[in-house]
Amino acid sequence: MRKVVIWFRRDLRLDDNPALNLAISLQAQILPIYIHSPEEEAPWFPGGASRWWLHHSLRKLEQELSGRGLALHYFLGNARDILPSLVCSENIDAVIANRLYEPHLARRDEELFGRLSAEGVQTNLFDSSLLFRPGSILNKQGKPYRVFTPFWRSARQHLEASTPPAVPAMPTGNLQAIRQDTAGSGSLEDLGLLDNNPWHEKLHSHWEVGERAAQHKLENFLNTGIGEYKSRREFPALKGSSRLSPHLHFGEITPGQIYRSLEPLLHLRNVAERSSIECLLSELGWREFAYQVLWNYPQTSRQSMNPRFHDDFWKDDTEALHAWQHGTTGIDLVDAGMRELWETGWMHNRVRMVTASFLTKNLGLHWLHGARWFWDTLVDADLASNSLGWQWVAGCGVDAAPYYRIFNPLRQAKKFDSSGIYVDRWIAERPCSPGLVDLETSRRDALERYKHAANIRDGAPG
Ligand SMILES: Cc1cc2nc3c(=O)[nH]c(=O)nc-3n(C[C@H](O)[C@H](O)[C@H](O)COP(=O)(O)OP(=O)(O)OC[C@H]3O[C@@H](n4cnc5c(N)ncnc54)[C@H](O)[C@@H]3O)c2cc1C
Repeated sequence: MRKVVIWFRRDLRLDDNPALNLAISLQAQILPIYIHSPEEEAPWFPGGASRWWLHHSLRKLEQELSGRGLALHYFLGNARDILPSLVCSENIDAVIANRLYEPHLARRDEELFGRLSAEGVQTNLFDSSLLFRPGSILNKQGKPYRVFTPFWRSARQHLEASTPPAVPAMPTGNLQAIRQDTAGSGSLEDLGLLDNNPWHEKLHSHWEVGERAAQHKLENFLNTGIGEYKSRREFPALKGSSRLSPHLHFGEITPGQIYRSLEPLLHLRNVAERSSIECLLSELGWREFAYQVLWNYPQTSRQSMNPRFHDDFWKDDTEALHAWQHGTTGIDLVDAGMRELWETGWMHNRVRMVTASFLTKNLGLHWLHGARWFWDTLVDADLASNSLGWQWVAGCGVDAAPYYRIFNPLRQAKKFDSSGIYVDRWIAERPCSPGLVDLETSRRDALERYKHAANIRDGAPG
């Protein structure tokens, strides 16, 4: 009987999983594996909150697989070394996985799968975690879009024309497993994903991890939240958005599954609800756009897309950074957001924009400082969406907010948290101490600096 490795990565689910589906259809003995290879993810080593999610998501996947007679095998180290030696020691005939789209990991996979197939091993890589493979939506000149609206108009038409197909459901009953004692593998604990300090215990009260929880959350949202998504999603005190982002990041659910659940509702619901559904689809569109941008401009995870905003544009202020990180800036909405992040591993999108604007514009600090902090503290930390989000707010990426858009946290709070429920939830000691910076003076200072940088680009230094 043939032997097949199914290599799980950010596709921690059984349903709608084309790689697993092929492994099953080959009627071979199956060896499911997970390789934790932080060195290969450098310089974006998985952050603390992400590793917490990953640990529990793997545990859930392990339980689901074991219910089907399969044991998930864990490895720690570089996939470049581990996979070829596993293939050799276990006489593996095929290695199957779903694609990763971070350019450095996609390069590793291409090289590794190339080596394996040169040695006669069957290799298959599937698309499954995006609606569109990066690079597949191009403008009329055959170039990548740099602005979201035309990108989404084009992508939406593609979706309208052909719904992403579902993967056939898994057959019931046990699957053929390869014997359990595979050389070099260890336990989930051996991966060392959880920090020794149990700070992460608190996350359990905010999240249920895993494929089943993701499906349940989607169903619940479609039954109770989707109709009012558009009108409620901007208010951080409400649970108005889906909170599916970590599930999507780890592939516990796919955007294809979400799209296929939403599409029939477009024909059934009233105008307002249809507009809410379109709004949610366009948010998924931002996720797609983020991956297209990272794919086409891989440097944007490390440096400003716009060269005017390279490292010397930004100020240095360790104390201010520390106050921002720990929610002690004295600006209520900013501090509430940073504390929500610290307590729950998640922050509302509107507040992400406000806190990011405060860091980069009012404090003048490099967006990379913010991106790194989010990377370590968000359970949904995602290289494409995080890099795009930060560069958008800082005004230095593609389709960036214009430089004169500086969110005023007081006005934002008045508009989106007028009764102060969100701020009260996260800040016990209101009224706060005086702000770290004067909002008006720091706004004017930022405008000057951005204007000066703009003039340099135009060849007329201010
Ligand atoms: C500075 C900054 C950093 C961010 N970092 C991340 C990150 O690391 N990981 C991450 O998943 N999102 C990030 N976002 C985008 C956004 O804030 C989150 O995706 C959203 O808050 C998740 O909540 P939700 O699942 O309830 O979203 P919903 O409103 O329910 O949207 C559904 C899904 O669409 C996607 N989505 C929504 N908004 C965006 C967006 N603006 N960009 C990309 N995808 C989007 C998410 O996958 C989300 O789960 C960032 C935004 C900013 C401004």
